[in-house]
Amino acid sequence: MSYRADPSFISQLRKYGAVNIESCFNCGNCTAVCPLSSDEDNFPRRMIRYGQLGMKDKLLGSKELWLCYSCGECTATCPRQADPGEFMAAARRYAIARYDRVRLASLMYTSSIFNLLFLLFLAVVLGTFIYSFHGSMPTQSLRLFDFIPSEVIHDAGIIAGLVVILIAMLGSFSMISNIRRNIAIPEDIRFDHKSAMTETIAEVFTQRRYRRDCKTSLKTQPWYFQKWFLHASMLWGFMGLFLATALDFFLALTGTKPTGTWVPIWYPVRLLGTLAGLMLMYGTTGAIVKRLLKGDDSYRHSTSTDWSFLVILWLSGLTGFVLEVAVYLPEPHAWSYWMLLAHLIIVGELLILLPFTKFAHVIYRTMALYVHALKPLPETEPAVTEVKE
Ligand code: SF4
Ligand code: SF4
Repeated sequence: MSYRADPSFISQLRKYGAVNIESCFNCGNCTAVCPLSSDEDNFPRRMIRYGQLGMKDKLLGSKELWLCYSCGECTATCPRQADPGEFMAAARRYAIARYDRVRLASLMYTSSIFNLLFLLFLAVVLGTFIYSFHGSMPTQSLRLFDFIPSEVIHDAGIIAGLVVILIAMLGSFSMISNIRRNIAIPEDIRFDHKSAMTETIAEVFTQRRYRRDCKTSLKTQPWYFQKWFLHASMLWGFMGLFLATALDFFLALTGTKPTGTWVPIWYPVRLLGTLAGLMLMYGTTGAIVKRLLKGDDSYRHSTSTDWSFLVILWLSGLTGFVLEVAVYLPEPHAWSYWMLLAHLIIVGELLILLPFTKFAHVIYRTMALYVHALKPLPETEPAVTEVKE
């Protein structure tokens, strides 16, 4: 298969945060030190060559983009300060923008002003929409869902979730078709999907490769401040909150516990939500502090979308905790109702922006890990070869 070269590609990647990549003279040090690179999945130098040669289709069809965990080891050893780790991050931003059929991601990534204005606009729209359903604010006791009815929250959440899933699926098809164009697969081959699924789930939940292989900060920082643990805290926290919300919805559906019923802190679903919220807050706070201090090589450069994603995630955890405190205070306070509105706006933004922001790596990395783990069933080997450019 032939690929067209686009001479403007490197300047496009610069808009997505590829700093100083023109200094790269292809020595290959970065690939040699990358703990996740192998003969089969060779990066980041190969990705940089695609960028320099204008081979955007090859870059977009490279699952290796998503196998990189942004540990920064390659950046630390680059003799030309070309920042290959940041190049990989920029290439992922570019890929998210290209997989996005709505074209919102490219505007958010390439213009800090648009990014900020769009977030504000979305907050106003969401706030106005949610507030239009508001009821009373009881002062004798705190009844949050008298103010914003839980049915409105559930229904709006389900509709927004379905739209986001649809957009994310379109992006996923785009990613897979790009990868398929990069790989020649003989027709009679069959893959071991079961093992690939098991391996992907294990990697997503345990961050095994990140924890075991990316050791940049291992010698200088305690485990609880290492990048893999902060990342895992955010992931586990988010998953825990998602599970707690789903369980709460299920308990309400079955009539076991209507939404908003007071329960003690040790009630299992409440406890799960509290612990998951703590993990989310810990991970996001650590990541924000590291970005501010710029101590690690992988945190040296931050785009406005890196910041906005982290801040929204952090605010969603913070407003959730303030609400939880409000529920257990002996007296009801009027600000608690406004805090509920703020929390719903922030969580709504997080959900709606999933396919367009860094959050999308949850989908694309999982898919890349799955493709990476796919091996031909023994009776159908040998098999998959990469299409030569
Ligand atoms: S990015 Fe740096 S380490 Fe990697 S090939 Fe280029 S010059 Fe060498
Ligand atoms: S940031 Fe880490 S995982 Fe990514 S290419 Fe560089 S060394 Fe490899």
